Amino acid sequence: MFEKTAENLSKRGFKVYCVKDAKDALKKCLDIIKIDDVPAFAGSETIKQIGLVEALLERGNEICHRSYLKDGETAQDIMKKSLSADFIVCSANAVTEDGEMLNVDGTGNRIAATFYGPQNILFVVGKNKIVRNMPEAFERIKTTAARLNCIRFGKNTPCVNGGDCADCTNEETICNISAVYHHPPRGKNFYVVLVDDSLGY
Ligand code: SF4
Repeated sequence: MFEKTAENLSKRGFKVYCVKDAKDALKKCLDIIKIDDVPAFAGSETIKQIGLVEALLERGNEICHRSYLKDGETAQDIMKKSLSADFIVCSANAVTEDGEMLNVDGTGNRIAATFYGPQNILFVVGKNKIVRNMPEAFERIKTTAARLNCIRFGKNTPCVNGGDCADCTNEETICNISAVYHHPPRGKNFYVVLVDDSLGY
């Protein structure tokens, strides 16, 4: 499933790098992002787990990240600045064996930056995100990704309270906007570091 997914992502025009674990994923990301690039980040447990932000700061990269605000800067400023950074770095909520990826957002800043923002898009995706098809991708979001993110953000949603997704219209829902990446947006470099290990959710 891993190899087939990598092959199909490549056929669709994504620049795919297969690595074995978090350590190799970090190394690959540090190869792809150059020292004079300013990468922006959207919230991602995967990126947190591989330690990319800390490694970039240690190397001397300037970054655009809401946990590292400059004086007077707000999280809103960072979301807007992310649209004109050199890279947007995050993960996918699911990737199908056929090589399509899916993200679902509450605010939409992550999705917006990945289709009409930076020239370079970098996704780091663990093999736990691989599913057979798009219905399974949406199912994965409802049963795993969104639910665990709702728990992480302390949301008061059915997937937290009752355990199951209720396709809620709750004002705290984080399932407001969906983006399917069939191919890279025209003219953009879309890198996918596919990790043969479980990362994020
Ligand atoms: S739609 Fe609502 S209940 Fe379902 S996963 Fe999203 S936030 Fe949870």
